[in-house]
Amino acid sequence: MQALIGLGSNLDSPSQRLISALRALQRLPGLTLCHHSRLYASAPVGPQDQPDYVNAAAALTFQGSPHELLQTLQALELAAGRQRLRHWGERTLDLDILLIGDRCIDTPDLQVPHPQMTRRAFVLYPLMDICADALLPDGTALSSFLEQVKDQRISPLAELERDALIERENP
Ligand code: ATP
Ligand code: CA
Ligand code: CA
Repeated sequence: MQALIGLGSNLDSPSQRLISALRALQRLPGLTLCHHSRLYASAPVGPQDQPDYVNAAAALTFQGSPHELLQTLQALELAAGRQRLRHWGERTLDLDILLIGDRCIDTPDLQVPHPQMTRRAFVLYPLMDICADALLPDGTALSSFLEQVKDQRISPLAELERDALIERENP
C-alpha cells in the first residue's frame, strides 16, 4: 500500500529530527521510502507560545495494515522522546498519516485522510513537492486547497542550511 505522511518537529534541533526520522523510515523492514519533500519552516497552529515548526512530507509503500503503519510511526515518535504535554503543543517529532492510497478510514485511533490536512499550509506545501497531482479519495485535487491556506506563514528552509545539516550528520 502507498501512503503519504507528514512530519513535524519544533523541539531539540527540529531539522535534524526530521532528517533522522526520514533515515529511520528508510531502514525499517516492510517499508520503502519513495520520495520526500524539502524541509519547511512554519508557524505553529494551536498555542502560539511555542517555537516555529520544521515540516516535511514523505511518500512510502508499506506492508501490513494501516493500523500497523500508525503503530510503527508512533514507535518512532516515542524513540524521538515525544511527550504529550498539551494539545497541539511543542513536540520533538510528529508523524501523521495523511493519505493511504484512496482509502477512507474512520476509527477512534486512526482517521484517513487526516481530518486537518486540507486546512494546513505546512501539510499542503510539502506535499506539492512530492505529488502535486495528489487527490483525496473523493477525487478533489489537494492543490485546490492551496488558495485557502495562502495566509499561513511557511517557507522552505534555505538549501544551503539544509545541505549543511545533512553534511554535519554524515561527515
Ligand atoms: P493533529 O492530529 O490535529 O495533527 P496531533 O498530531 O498533535 O494533532 P497527536 O497527539 O500526535 O495529535 O495524536 C493524537 C492521536 O491521533 C494519536 O494517538 C492517533 O491515534 C490519532 N490519529 C488519528 N488519525 C491519525 C492519523 N491519520 N495519523 C496519525 N495519528 C492519527
Ligand atoms: Ca499532527
Ligand atoms: Ca500526530
